[in-house]
Amino acid sequence: MKLNRQWILRQRPDDDIGSGDLEFVQTPIPQISVGQMLIRNLYLSLDPTNRLWMSDRDQYLPPVKLGHVMRGSTIGIVEQSLSEKFSPGDIVKLPDGGWQDYAVVRDHMAEAVVEDPTVPLTAHLSVLGMTGLTAYGCLLDIGRPQAGETVVISAAAGAVGSIAGQIAKRQGCHVVGIAGGPQKCRWLTEDLGFDAAIDYKSQDVPTQLDALCPNGIDVAFENVGGSIMDAIFSRLALHGRMAVCGLISGYNDSGPLAGPTDFGRILMKRLTVKGFIVIDYLDRSDAAFANLRQWITGGALIWKDHIIDGLENAPDALNLLFNGKNDGKLMVRIASE
Ligand code: NDP
Repeated sequence: MKLNRQWILRQRPDDDIGSGDLEFVQTPIPQISVGQMLIRNLYLSLDPTNRLWMSDRDQYLPPVKLGHVMRGSTIGIVEQSLSEKFSPGDIVKLPDGGWQDYAVVRDHMAEAVVEDPTVPLTAHLSVLGMTGLTAYGCLLDIGRPQAGETVVISAAAGAVGSIAGQIAKRQGCHVVGIAGGPQKCRWLTEDLGFDAAIDYKSQDVPTQLDALCPNGIDVAFENVGGSIMDAIFSRLALHGRMAVCGLISGYNDSGPLAGPTDFGRILMKRLTVKGFIVIDYLDRSDAAFANLRQWITGGALIWKDHIIDGLENAPDALNLLFNGKNDGKLMVRIASE
């Protein structure tokens, strides 16, 4: 009998995910009822926010309850359908297909994936998924970059940051990325067209920002938080905007995520500091995806997917986001296409 392998959240991690935080179990594949579908998951998206969902911090979605299947978005194939909207064989995207082989979902919780032979299926979890939408919406809606302005992006070689930086270049901005290691920095400047990159692991970020952004920073696309955010914030120019997309450096800690030291700069420089959560942007996703699709098809937007094989490896793989060993949008291949 085929079973459903699932990762169950057993306890809230203290730091990086460790043994005992999640348990790998096997359960019978559930039956479906009218309006439902059985989906066989093919790819699972691994996102920094997964770590937040494992914690009981006050956050934008309820934390995953202990004893429940770990939440995660997936791409899967319809195996059985009692829905008029989907048929077996259809490929769908699920906001919560979960860390498991099979998911039972109502049809309104699935979005059809329009297959395109020129685009890998995995792109629908990355550049044509929440990653691309986050980069696009957070940069253009909150950052509002204008031609000639200086944009600084942290975690710039990551999935979201690398796309945000390329979009800022399309807007005619001077774009500086901050990333860990010479290889990632080279990729930003040599392949993606960033004007400059700062290797925060070997260079002094404040000194480099002073040299590369002599007139201050107009737009900050913040993915990291902590001292990197502080260095950027304290160089924001008059009427500067900080688009707060993520604060990954603090996700493994407990307690409040610290803000910038010089809060008064918001007043003195009339700054806008605003958070962004991609689910608030879904109603504008059609226009965003149309542009992103056009740019990738024309080769004008580059992205990378980092695929780890095997659902059993999901917890260890998630830790790669926190030690910077991922190279592109991280996901797990649960089953072959
Ligand atoms: P990435 O592909 O960018 O991977 C995370 C990267 O963060 C790592 O590769 C690492 O890059 C960097 N990083 C991790 N820990 C630290 C640290 N302590 N200090 C500095 N850099 C660190 O992941 P995503 O693109 O998926 O996510 C990037 C950010 O965007 C996250 O903060 C995430 O929460 C946020 N996000 C927000 C969304 C929203 O709706 N607001 C939606 C999706 C993502 P390096 O090697 O350069 O250190």
